Order: sequence, then C-alpha cells, then structure tokens
Amino acid sequence: MSGRFLSIGECMVELSQAGEGLLRKGFAGDTFNTAWYARACLPSAWSVDYFTALGDDPMSDEMVAFMGKAGIGTDLIHRIKGKTPGLYMINLRDGERSFSYWRDSSAARSLAADPDRLREAVESADVVYFSGITLAILSHDDADTLLAEIRRAKAVGKFVVFDPNIRPRLWSSYDVMHTTISEGGRASSLVMPSFDDEVAHFGDASIDATIERYLALGASHVVVKNGAEGATLSFANEKAYVPAEKVKMVVDTTSAGDSFNGAFLAHYLENRDAPAAARFAAKIAAHVVSEHGALVPKEKLGL
Ligand code: ADP
Repeated sequence: MSGRFLSIGECMVELSQAGEGLLRKGFAGDTFNTAWYARACLPSAWSVDYFTALGDDPMSDEMVAFMGKAGIGTDLIHRIKGKTPGLYMINLRDGERSFSYWRDSSAARSLAADPDRLREAVESADVVYFSGITLAILSHDDADTLLAEIRRAKAVGKFVVFDPNIRPRLWSSYDVMHTTISEGGRASSLVMPSFDDEVAHFGDASIDATIERYLALGASHVVVKNGAEGATLSFANEKAYVPAEKVKMVVDTTSAGDSFNGAFLAHYLENRDAPAAARFAAKIAAHVVSEHGALVPKEKLGL
C-alpha cells in the first residue's frame, strides 16, 4: 500500500528543564507528534506530510529542518513574513509538571487563512488528520474554512481522522468549544477521543455514550482511548475492547494518545484490521510512556 498521510495543526518550540537553570529546546505539538509516530510506523511507500504555518525566523527554519530530518514532508508549510512559531515551557515543581504557553500570536493560527493553499494540501492527501487543538487555535472564520475543506475531503472518499483533544483554555467559550468539536466529529470518518476529556467536557456517563455520541453525529468509526484501562473500538459497527500493555514504570505520559493515534493509523492503513491496529498502538504507546518526552525515537519503539 502507499499514499499520503497529511496532518494539520500546530507544532511548537518546547523548552524543558535540563538542570542547573538550563533549558533544553525541542519541537512538539499534538498533530505533529501523531505525524512523527505515523512516520515511524508506516512503510516508506507512504509519505507523511505536515501542514501548518510558520514564520520566516531562524526558529521556524530549525523546526522545518527538524521535521525534514524525521522524514516528514514540509513542502506544504506556509511561511509567513514577520511571524514566529508558538512556544511552551514544561515547568517542574516538586515532581509535578505544568505547562506555560506563548502561542497567542503564533504563525500556526493563520494556517487556514489561505483557502486555496489549504485545499491544494488536502486534495493531495489520502488520509487527513486534525484535532480539536487545530480547530481551537483558529479564528471562527478560519475554523469554518478548515471544516468545509475537511467535509469535502470526506465526501470524496478520503479517510478523515479527528482527535477532539479538548483543551478548554484554548476556546473562547464552552458553547463554541462544544459546537466546534462536534462539527469536527461530524466531518470525520474516524474519531479518536480520550475518555477522560469526554467525561469532563461532554459529561459522558460511559465509553459507550462517547461512542454513540460521535456515531450519531456522523462519524463511521470511533476509537476511545482510556489510559491504562485500554481502548474501546467501534469500527463499521463492530465493537472491540483492547487492553493497554502492562508497563513496568510509567515515566512520562506526554503524547501517549498522540502516539497511539499515529501507530493505530499506520497499522490500520496497511492492514485494515482495527483490533490488530489497536493492539499494535497499545504496544507503541507503552514504549512512549516508558520514556521521557513527546517524541520517542523509532529505535526505542520496539519496531
Ligand atoms: P491521552 O494521552 O490522549 O489522554 P490516554 O491516556 O488514553 O491518551 O492513553 C493513550 C493510550 O496510551 C492508551 O490507550 C494506552 O494504550 C496507552 N497508555 C496510556 N497510559 C498508560 C499506562 N499507564 N500504562 C500502559 N499504557 C498506557
């Protein structure tokens, strides 16, 4: 099999504590993390591309070089004069992690501002991946533009995948968040939510309730991730439960869900067997939670 996997969203500069007041620079962001794991798990006949907007500063150049080195296509990335990428810092206090963000005026917020460029990118892809964070960082009009393109992609038979990744702080109101996330689900072929987010923000009483809500909106398939409790699938109306792998020591759960999504999709696109894809994804995610950082190198994924 071959094709083009296109992930749409924001990748940020990441600063993490490196001891003695030093900071280590990295690059990460939910949709980029998923592209990273899809790239690691897909055969080379597939291309994996990232669609975003960046600036014309040296940090944007470095990010593009980093993506290229990981084998992720960057040709579709729009570079905006005078803009810069978003940035976040991982704070550590008494062993607890918290995050500070500087992303209000990041270039990625304009990723859907040029509808022709967006259409060209989506049309070039076989699989389109986006998230609730992708929608949350856009203006109301640009989110509409992206959703229209996504609907069009699904209507012509592309496989459209959405992770709601609900982050209330990024939304102007709960109403806008609920409506737009639901539109994202409606526009997609497959929705891959995390159960704890859906309970907290949609009040779902059970995993089945989450599945039913996204199916009722119009998604064909739903995969609900539930941390160490495993994942529940509804694929073409067939339900399956896949347990998580046992992990000796959980080191860092950053990007557990993103890696699960990337690995699931890579396996599914090659084999069209959803439960087998979920078992494979659980293995990859188990490696990811056993290591530090959002982007675990391929050599450490047991591939
Ligand atoms: P998110 O990061 O989106 O909240 P989850 O926490 O649901 O996603 O985790 C995604 C997947 O990662 C799970 O379905 C599971 O396979 C794996 N995973 C997460 N936490 C653990 C854990 N403590 N032990 C083993 N696997 C885990």
